[in-house]
Amino acid sequence: MTTLQKPPYVYMGGRITEWEHATIHVASEALIRGISVFEGIKSYWRDDNSELAFLALEEHYERLARSALLNQLPFSWTFDEFKKACTSLARRLQTADTDMWLRPTVFAIEGHWGEGTVTDLVITCYQQEKRRPAGLEIGFATWQRPLDTGLPARIKSAANYQMGRLARIEGRRQGFADMIFMNPWGRVAEATGSCVLMARAGVVVTPPCYEGCLESITVNIVEKLCETLEIPFQRRPVDRTELMICDELCLAGTLMELGVVRRLDGRIMPASTPIFDRIADRFWAAVRGRQPHSAVRLSAV
Ligand code: PMP
Repeated sequence: MTTLQKPPYVYMGGRITEWEHATIHVASEALIRGISVFEGIKSYWRDDNSELAFLALEEHYERLARSALLNQLPFSWTFDEFKKACTSLARRLQTADTDMWLRPTVFAIEGHWGEGTVTDLVITCYQQEKRRPAGLEIGFATWQRPLDTGLPARIKSAANYQMGRLARIEGRRQGFADMIFMNPWGRVAEATGSCVLMARAGVVVTPPCYEGCLESITVNIVEKLCETLEIPFQRRPVDRTELMICDELCLAGTLMELGVVRRLDGRIMPASTPIFDRIADRFWAAVRGRQPHSAVRLSAV
């Protein structure tokens, strides 16, 4: 079972506070209706441990602002204020032995049915082992990603993760580490916390956002890495059966990074994954500072 980290400090109410004091009222819309939007941001140490750097901090800030806008949540933080908040917490908690993962969340701490909404930016920050993800065994969820007119997948809101939670519970019972959601048309949407990339006949393919996935920052990076590596990259709808017969399969996301799938719904995938190995090698060379890439935007903590 996973044990949750309880770091000593949290950013809340415009300052760093102790974990025990980072609390939200039981009557807030954040709790009673699950009204919050959030981000997951990774920071990586360079290979020589000379610098810890956030990956794509500005892209995450912009998506958080878009999620808040779509969820009718007041969002008044400038990028500089956001960066200062993330930096102050990460500096407080950083250790040389681990990378970090930050979760900035905008909670509706006051208001009622969207009237009089007051928000707060809360950031929690966790240690992450410095290792590349291992091969994954995953399945297909019976839960679907809903239509854009219901729970829009492009918003990173807490509500979207209720299905993710149910899908993970369903998957755990079957021995799967993660699950892929279909959309209402029976095509591939995304996994519970990452996007789906497949390779077929030398082309990397991923479903576009209108198929029911988050506007992924990692997928945008992969697209640019593919350009550099001269690997064709396409965004187009993907059938479930196409995934079952693809040459290589990979989940992509900030926390997932690039996780190659070894077994899909019982099918053992080909052991050799030359395309995703090349992309992952280039990704890791860039985030660790060995071989910078313009799409891998790092900013010092
Ligand atoms: N889909 C979902 C549901 C996610 O939670 C994530 C992780 N943020 C992703 C896709 C991948 O997005 P990103 O590459 O921006 O982390």
